[in-house]
Amino acid sequence: MATDLAEVMRKIVGEKGVFTDARSVAVFSRDAFYYSPVLKAQLEDKLADLIVAPQSVAELQKVVSHAAREGIPVTVRGAGTGNYGQCVPLHGGIVVSTHRLNRILDFDGASGVIRVEAGVRMGQIERFARERGWELRCYPSTWATAAIGGFVGGGFGGVGSIRNGVLWDGFLKSIAVLEMTEEAKTHTLEGHDVFGFIHAYGTSGIMVGLEVSLVPAVPWEEAVICFPDYADALRFSHQLALDESEAKRLISLNEWPIPSFFRPLVDAGGIIEGQAAVLLELAEDRTTAVAERAAPYGGKLTYTAPASAYHKGKFCLSDFSWNHTTLWAMKTDPGWTYLQSRFSPEPEKALEQISALRAFHGDKVAFHHEYIRQSGELVLAALDLIYYQDKEPIYAAIARREELGIQVADPHTFLLDADPRWSGEVVLAARARYNPHNLLNPGKISSQPLTEKARLW
Ligand SMILES: Cc1cc2nc3c(=O)[nH]c(=O)nc-3n(C[C@H](O)[C@H](O)[C@H](O)COP(=O)(O)OP(=O)(O)OC[C@H]3O[C@@H](n4cnc5c(N)ncnc54)[C@H](O)[C@@H]3O)c2cc1C
Repeated sequence: MATDLAEVMRKIVGEKGVFTDARSVAVFSRDAFYYSPVLKAQLEDKLADLIVAPQSVAELQKVVSHAAREGIPVTVRGAGTGNYGQCVPLHGGIVVSTHRLNRILDFDGASGVIRVEAGVRMGQIERFARERGWELRCYPSTWATAAIGGFVGGGFGGVGSIRNGVLWDGFLKSIAVLEMTEEAKTHTLEGHDVFGFIHAYGTSGIMVGLEVSLVPAVPWEEAVICFPDYADALRFSHQLALDESEAKRLISLNEWPIPSFFRPLVDAGGIIEGQAAVLLELAEDRTTAVAERAAPYGGKLTYTAPASAYHKGKFCLSDFSWNHTTLWAMKTDPGWTYLQSRFSPEPEKALEQISALRAFHGDKVAFHHEYIRQSGELVLAALDLIYYQDKEPIYAAIARREELGIQVADPHTFLLDADPRWSGEVVLAARARYNPHNLLNPGKISSQPLTEKARLW
């Protein structure tokens, strides 16, 4: 069946757009789920029947039309950096890779709106925008490789979220969506309707064009401030986060020993043995003043990079932020994994939560927080490292956080509806309309069983 399908697909997208060899199929059927030992055990053997990489929306329409007619599941993939198996095909079928849909289509220099195809990398957009005096509102620490369709479909926020919020906070002006039906029609959606596609794991339709709202570029410089005590690092970071007059793009807090995992930063002399490190992106010429504010908290400036070197050096500080932090930890010791949660935005309450968790975990936890704003509210997001590889202690750690009033977005499940960040009914309504046969990434929403049509495939 897969051989026949490959022949049909080759007629649509050409020889170079179809991958059937075992290695390519394995690579394109995976994402970064291996950060979770739980997902690793569940997803490692899940494979597509073949990979298809269309070069145009017209080709993709033909692929979708054929798949819809035959009841073949389709899972869309950007760069495959998602952490929850978002683009792993649970029921085989076609993985559509968007890497050849990589054109910047339009840019309005007056409003700062850029229109792109879904496979354009975040880094490509950021560079294009900065050259023209604009920048992305927010981007994931995987910005160099992640595709815009993948960020919107599977991401949340990241660098810039302390200033401009997350994906739900005006990131998109509109999207062009391809419905998963034999007709394979496209629809342009804006306003509230785009929420049906944000963090929806590609279950509600295929985004083929995205209009992204940019913000005026700021010349950013980078700084690391080290603190003997994580509690003081948090108190300082909190008041910096609250201060609207001090522009910043990143406030990333890392408890010792996490800074020791950041090898390039260690080699650059940017960390102090035994101390917490706060990684900052600040407006040009503001580092000295911010470092002075940190001094009463015991903070010491250990690393700076000027605005002229932004995104141009051997590394960026964002390479150690968000889930890159976990990556550096796993490189040092594969026994680490992580949790995602929200601590209290009140620093003293957050410190109580931290000390309760310290009592619970002992040395099997290392705290990592990121300050962001969501819907205007300050949020203390956490990607704590925990030193467990078994499901039981991981879920005991989640339960303990919930007892302490910490909301957890479990990164050890591939189920979209287990994630408190998804948009629920809006996604289900979009899914019912644009993916009526549940052929897109089936199995990712627990309440949406496979249809008879897909089951026959
Ligand atoms: C080291 C590391 C750091 C990370 N840091 C961050 C971070 O800072 N912030 C953050 O939010 N995430 C982060 N992530 C998670 C992930 O990198 C981001 O979500 C990223 O933006 C995903 O992009 P991608 O192109 O790799 O998407 P993929 O993994 O390819 O896809 C993600 C989801 O989007 C769907 N999708 C892809 N394209 C489309 C489309 N055209 N239409 C509809 N659905 C589509 C897929 O089906 C899948 O469900 C991190 C992951 C890693 C491994």
